[in-house]
Amino acid sequence: MVIIMNPEATAENISEVIKAIEGAGLEAKIMEGAQQKIVGVIGDKTKMASVAIGAMPGVDHSVEISKSYKLASREFHPQSTTIDVDGIKIGGGEPVVMAGPCAVESLEQLLSAAEIVKKGGAKFLRGGAYKPRTSPYSFQGLEVEGLKILAKAREKTGLKVITEVTTVEGIAPVAEYADILQIGARNMQNFGLLKEVGKCGKPVMLKRGLASTIDEWLNAAEYIMNAGNPDVILCERGIRTYETYTRNTLDLSAVAAIKHLSHLPIIVDPSHGTGKWRMIKPMAFAAIAAGADGLMMEVHPNPAKALSDGSQSLTSENYFEVMRGVQKLSKLMREENLNPIVE
Ligand code: PEP
Ligand code: MN
Repeated sequence: MVIIMNPEATAENISEVIKAIEGAGLEAKIMEGAQQKIVGVIGDKTKMASVAIGAMPGVDHSVEISKSYKLASREFHPQSTTIDVDGIKIGGGEPVVMAGPCAVESLEQLLSAAEIVKKGGAKFLRGGAYKPRTSPYSFQGLEVEGLKILAKAREKTGLKVITEVTTVEGIAPVAEYADILQIGARNMQNFGLLKEVGKCGKPVMLKRGLASTIDEWLNAAEYIMNAGNPDVILCERGIRTYETYTRNTLDLSAVAAIKHLSHLPIIVDPSHGTGKWRMIKPMAFAAIAAGADGLMMEVHPNPAKALSDGSQSLTSENYFEVMRGVQKLSKLMREENLNPIVE
């Protein structure tokens, strides 16, 4: 349940409502919008039966939320969320691009990738230091050494860093070096990990699981938010279907679904979504046209020599071309007021 306070509600009215909710053995979370204040009720809603909430001063009305996620829902938070990472705004404005190699392979490789990424206009450098590989014999990442290399690239270029965390023990080192922590598709329902990143104090990008529904994905986001971290960014990276031509099936309809169901920003990853570098440009354009808040793309100084995911990594020239198109398309959409989001 969410309780919508009327615009004239006083601080005292709100604190009385919170007291009533807590008195019934439930938890209250306040959302302060520009015009409206909303109080979310977390817990077993049957306990609210004893509280005449509609009669309390300052209460406009209450809405039952039938979904099992609340904090991530648009009902609880009608305005779209913008996440500010050191002045870079993710959500509701210009698309934010996160680009870089699949994995950090060496200082030289990452610095050269970072120069390309910066030149093309992306604001975030991506690169895995801990790689969740299908085979235990594949390159597993440089771990802490990789994190230090990412930090050096940030220092040199001013780019922000996003990198994946795969274990609870990895959270502290990754949070020390990264600006955004990435939870990979394979860990989307690793609830212990989700609860812990909920306490890390840094924004988290949650990739959609390989075979997860939108409802499961938003419930996973709820785990992070319920643990105290409101700064969650979703990332559509393709799901497993019967199609084998592409590595995954990039579900661009998820952008529209998420925009309807949630206030959280959504990024699209056409690299993992298709597995093919040739498909990145058309899917990147389509993602922006569908209303995505940004893109994650793999870029490598020499994709043919990449230790992982070379076939879905852009060369510098191909990356520059995608970026030129994305910038032009999003500028046109803003200038012409072409808003794909249907309220
Ligand atoms: C990645 O972004 O490096 C990655 C491993 O992606 P995913 O978790 O989507 O497979
Ligand atoms: Mn990859």
